Amino acid sequence: MKLTAFLIKYAEIAIKGKNRPLFEEALLKEIRRALKRVEGSFHVYRTQGRMHVDTEGDFDYNGAVEALKHVFGITSFHPVLVLEDEGFEQLKESVREYMAETYPEGNISFKVNARRARKNYPVESMEINARMGEALLNAFPSMHVDVKQPDVMLHIEVREKIYVYSVDIPGAGGMPVGTGGKAMLLLSGGIDSPVAGYMIAKRGVALNAVYFHAPPYTSERARQKVEDLAKLVSAYAGEVWLHVVNFTDIQKYIYEKCPHDELTIIMRRYMMRIAERIALDCGCLALITGESIGQVASQTTQSLLVTNEVVEELPVFRPLIGFDKQDIVELSKSIGTYDTSILPYEDCCTIWVAKHPVTKPSPKIIRKHEEHLKEGIDELFEKAVSGRDVVKLG
Ligand code: ATP
Ligand code: MG
Repeated sequence: MKLTAFLIKYAEIAIKGKNRPLFEEALLKEIRRALKRVEGSFHVYRTQGRMHVDTEGDFDYNGAVEALKHVFGITSFHPVLVLEDEGFEQLKESVREYMAETYPEGNISFKVNARRARKNYPVESMEINARMGEALLNAFPSMHVDVKQPDVMLHIEVREKIYVYSVDIPGAGGMPVGTGGKAMLLLSGGIDSPVAGYMIAKRGVALNAVYFHAPPYTSERARQKVEDLAKLVSAYAGEVWLHVVNFTDIQKYIYEKCPHDELTIIMRRYMMRIAERIALDCGCLALITGESIGQVASQTTQSLLVTNEVVEELPVFRPLIGFDKQDIVELSKSIGTYDTSILPYEDCCTIWVAKHPVTKPSPKIIRKHEEHLKEGIDELFEKAVSGRDVVKLG
């Protein structure tokens, strides 16, 4: 018995008043985008307050389910059995078969919830409920009816065709990507930043990403890992343009001119400055980082203050700011980025890191020491920005 359609529910976006059509358009677009990678022919459309995916011919059912699970804005979806109207007796038979296949263990409570949208169907909704309930009870002695809190709500919708569904697959929640503008994610190869990108994309924000690498100190494999992470995030966030910035000369210059225990924090300030410049060039409305208070020396409250002050125009979103590492790890496992994040390729920050980096940098002192870079930094900055590689993922 083949399930050949999906019914899609969305909640949060349905309450957005005048914006509602925009949100629904974005969701339709996202569903179509996600299904583009799946084998099969899909027709995606909207009726009042719901979305539908109909299929034609053979299609990759598991692939379609996986793809839909990645679409922000979907709260849940149902695989649907679509039947031609061949009379009520045949409908009973098909629904019996559906229940037997869907709940092979039996032992459940259910309620039939029929809706007769096509009024010339000869059996009324209440009557469908009663007669179908009875037929199922006769067929499956281990099942029983519970009208208040059934384990299974069996929906039967009579339209031109008849739609039967009962299984509820949780969606990714959030808002459809594209409804919240675009932001620039500072994406390293670590555990945190892909999760941070996921969380902001979940609020409807499309992503660009920037990665700072330091060849030959960081390898091609480290870069490839970041591309792989961007690709994994793009399964949720839609296409991600990744800007790869060569950071070697800037790092070396800072190393040469500034106190070594301040290297990381000054480096982070340049990352933020470059990220903001590229973000503004690309129409991004915010920066995103994977920072979390106290996780490392460069993420103490004082360090965050010093890193933050160089960003002139854009807000910096730090969705993980109050998260424990363990919670971030769990999230990263659940979205599928963890296994890639823990591959052991070097990070551009760790190579240059001092044994005892400052944990309470003073903005004044850092600004003063940055003066040492005056002579050459502007040129290096421009070179890093204009010489960046841009790759599209997803
Ligand atoms: P992550 O797990 O995301 O690498 P982290 O715990 O290693 O984070 P840091 O190295 O202090 O933390 O970096 C903090 C944030 O700065 C990262 O979450 C990321 O947003 C950004 N960042 C760090 N290194 C890079 C890099 N090489 N390229 C782009 N962004 C970076
Ligand atoms: Mg890192």
